[in-house]
Amino acid sequence: MDSLTQIVNFEITTACNLGALHKLCPNAHPARFASLPHDTPMSDELIVASAVALYREYGFRGLVGWHYYCEPLMDAKRMFRLMLAIRRAAPAAQFLLWSNGTLLDRYKATSAIGLFSVAVITNYGHHAPGLYSSLPWLREQIPVVEVVPAKLDGRLDFAPCGYARPCLRMYLEADFDFFGNLHLCCYDWRGLGSPGNLNTTPLADLIERWIGIREGLGTVPYFGTESSAARVPDSCRWCGARFLGNATGHVPGFVCEIAQSARERVAELGGLEIGNPPAIFAPFKQTDKAAPERNALDGMLPGP
Ligand code: SF4
Repeated sequence: MDSLTQIVNFEITTACNLGALHKLCPNAHPARFASLPHDTPMSDELIVASAVALYREYGFRGLVGWHYYCEPLMDAKRMFRLMLAIRRAAPAAQFLLWSNGTLLDRYKATSAIGLFSVAVITNYGHHAPGLYSSLPWLREQIPVVEVVPAKLDGRLDFAPCGYARPCLRMYLEADFDFFGNLHLCCYDWRGLGSPGNLNTTPLADLIERWIGIREGLGTVPYFGTESSAARVPDSCRWCGARFLGNATGHVPGFVCEIAQSARERVAELGGLEIGNPPAIFAPFKQTDKAAPERNALDGMLPGP
């Protein structure tokens, strides 16, 4: 959301071709939208305006992704259309493809795939038979391509945590679901800590609430000063997931430069020790620009 956020997701569909198979994934869980507005999807105009504003007005310098709990290639045409519109208005924009890889080969001839700076492909083994044949051409198009083993954890029903420790997860990601609800992280999939909905709340207000919660969660003593503690949602106070992103006690690193700035901010706020933990997945650097030149955008074809 701001200069210390590494990834902002705008979920472009609720569909996933593996959703019915993966019982431990929130994708098709009935509680997913039960406590949240789910009548109005984010429009293309809203997504583009918000992403462009993040880069141009709020100092965001990370990656825009499209997944949250969907498979983004289920609506690839929309995804490519949004990427082109955002890149035209905000040339600094960079994009993340997080995909199960099963549909990749359909886009081999789609030049807009080269707009991505990073691809993380989750390998579901026998559900993704064509995955490895896609990797050579994908690696020619995208500067950083990582394949990670699928690991469905217990996020549907984590046991509450009994003792206090800061959570730095919000320095990694901000997630707007398909209906515009802002989630604190991928573990907040029910939206119990949601700062609001992009369809009905100005982006500036969401960012202000977001930073208040993040700083309350990331300071020491736990939950920070009284004023920031008051902004930390109850769902975070007992969240049993917060250690997963913070095994080292540091801001998880995906975009290295941003993670380091975030660590410095956390140290300033509350004295967490600054270290140099290994990056998650690829050591992505902001100099790893997407392959196509800006003036090539006009020649890019949307996917099927
Ligand atoms: S405490 Fe839990 S729900 Fe809150 S931001 Fe951290 S991991 Fe997400």
